[in-house]
Amino acid sequence: MSELADAAIAGASESDLLSCPVPETVRAAHLRREDVDMFAGAGDRDVRRSIHVSEVPLPELAPDEVLVAVMASGINFNTVWSATFLPVPTFGFLSRFARRDRWGARHDQPWHVIGSDASGIVVRVGAGVRRWSAGDRVVVAPAYVDSEDPVTHQDAMTGDQRAWGFETNFGGLAEFAVAKASQLLPKAAHLTWEEAACSTLCASTAYRMLVGPHGAVMKQGDVVLVWGGTGGLGGFAVQLVRAGGGIPVAVVGSAAKADLMHRLGCQHVVDRSTLGAGPAGLRDPAAWRELGARIRRLVGEDPHIVFEHTGEETFGASVYLARTGGTVVTCGSSSGYEHSYDNRYLWMRLKRIIGSHGANLQEAAEVNRLVRLGRLMPTLSEVYPLEQVGEATRTVQHNRHVGKVGVLCLAPSEGLGVSDPARRAEIGERRLRPFRQAATGNRGLVPISVP
Ligand code: NAP
Repeated sequence: MSELADAAIAGASESDLLSCPVPETVRAAHLRREDVDMFAGAGDRDVRRSIHVSEVPLPELAPDEVLVAVMASGINFNTVWSATFLPVPTFGFLSRFARRDRWGARHDQPWHVIGSDASGIVVRVGAGVRRWSAGDRVVVAPAYVDSEDPVTHQDAMTGDQRAWGFETNFGGLAEFAVAKASQLLPKAAHLTWEEAACSTLCASTAYRMLVGPHGAVMKQGDVVLVWGGTGGLGGFAVQLVRAGGGIPVAVVGSAAKADLMHRLGCQHVVDRSTLGAGPAGLRDPAAWRELGARIRRLVGEDPHIVFEHTGEETFGASVYLARTGGTVVTCGSSSGYEHSYDNRYLWMRLKRIIGSHGANLQEAAEVNRLVRLGRLMPTLSEVYPLEQVGEATRTVQHNRHVGKVGVLCLAPSEGLGVSDPARRAEIGERRLRPFRQAATGNRGLVPISVP
């Protein structure tokens, strides 16, 4: 391990960090351009085969960037997309980025360091960075934006933006990562590194979809149907709905997940495995009607908002299930992106479909504030070392996880990084680790002990 990594782990001062040389190479989870056709004809795109963990070079820092010693990161579903080279290999994004300018050109390499979440310590700042210094403890928001694009100043997500560690190189699943200063937010002092790392991308995406001015703008009392309530997005969506005075109705895939939802305080849950759907599953209008009837039995009315990310398989149901005048807000297509739905339900019942993507820095800051206030709980369920990013991603690829799957990068063990233990004690371990406890119960993992 490098001198700089050791200093960051030891919590060294700004001057000590700056006196340590930046290593030329770092250990990082990455994909290789030479592998992009490796799954041709394969039934199982096993991400453990495409994700490599070894040394890769660090680039020169641009004036508006920072170098972060990554203590922990996490698996997002985009890690699965990139490692399966679906729907397209991410190397195309890097090549296009390279055509923009000399700083973009650094990203176009035969390797792609992936990962769109991170918590850690700033160890270097570019010449143009004002708000951050070496030694700052941060989380990294995923929107890598162009501050010179006028649209960025209205809503960065509609401007020239890229998903960090997916459409850019040097992402979070590494010992050190390169991010724009405009991605940084202060880390919640009461959280461990791994909890903080997993509370940014999905939390801020869910916030934009449900709460922020560009999404469904949920109001008090709204009934919100949340697909995949125990998943990465869903775990935060359910919390945001409850915190905002809404009524979440979670759909989950098993009785164990339904139980977890209840224990998280989500009163209304539908286990989709109990729907009497035929071979077409949730694509079958009979299944929509059954689900609709179940929701009415649970809450007495149809959803004002449907929180969509599951895609092809559920989208027809989502459009059907939203109430007259209701909203379907979507940010993804796990089961396929060629959605079809019966448009009569949309136009005759005056429904809206809103596309949503990531979150701008303001939205990420709002959600990070909720995390720091202890109003939004981490959904971490299990943690892997950096060497096992392939295994961690495989768990998400096969939907064997709940909440978020964390990865320790430089943090030598779990449970570190809490700088306000009194606040942590005040909130309480039970509230802070509901998903971890579920994973422990369901899968025999050893619970972590947090100092
Ligand atoms: P996740 O942790 O895997 O959770 C997804 C949940 O969806 C699972 O827990 C699963 O729950 C449910 N699900 C999966 N397939 C389903 C199906 N065919 N029918 C019904 N439910 C299904 O993933 P995530 O992090 O929440 O991300 C979900 C999707 O959103 C991904 O496609 C991801 O790429 C996208 N996303 C987009 C953005 C963006 O900015 N645009 C950001 C984050 C995520 P059950 O099995 O319990 O039902």
